[in-house]
Amino acid sequence: MGKWESLRAGLNWLNLSTLSGLALARCTGCRVKPGQQGLIYALNYRPRLPVAGAFTVGNVVFFRKHFSEPGNYPQLLEHEATHSTQYALCMGLPFIPLYFLAAGYSWLRIGDPASRNVFERRANLQGGGYTERPVRRIMPQLAHGLRRAAHRGVTQSPNEQPIPSRRTPV
Ligand SMILES: [Zn+2]
Repeated sequence: MGKWESLRAGLNWLNLSTLSGLALARCTGCRVKPGQQGLIYALNYRPRLPVAGAFTVGNVVFFRKHFSEPGNYPQLLEHEATHSTQYALCMGLPFIPLYFLAAGYSWLRIGDPASRNVFERRANLQGGGYTERPVRRIMPQLAHGLRRAAHRGVTQSPNEQPIPSRRTPV
């Protein structure tokens, strides 16, 4: 383990994120074993959420059944190790709400929680099994919607809106 990896492991112990990860591993019946770069692997994670083949809490990296040999997936390991670093930089569990904020932003921009998520981008999208998607142009869509709403407001009161025709499937 290099100097930085030792420091990261120490910080994630101190900020309690690794301890939280180990508690989760215990609650979910994962098999825990020491991994590369000072990480701890929690194998055979089974609960449905989060919807991911692997995810990280502090220095603990959770893997679902199909990643039973994490050493065979160096890119994924590198990706999760970066998330572990992000925990250390966020002083532990504050990483989680920040991550969800970033995922929400990405979802709004692009309809995908990862592509524009700063944490996933920093961890290398491809390594996490994500593909980069093109950015939606929000402003023109928003402007168009507002124009339509304003136009409707001028020409029609809501009560006058035509009743949508009901189509019965045949
Ligand atoms: Zn990731």
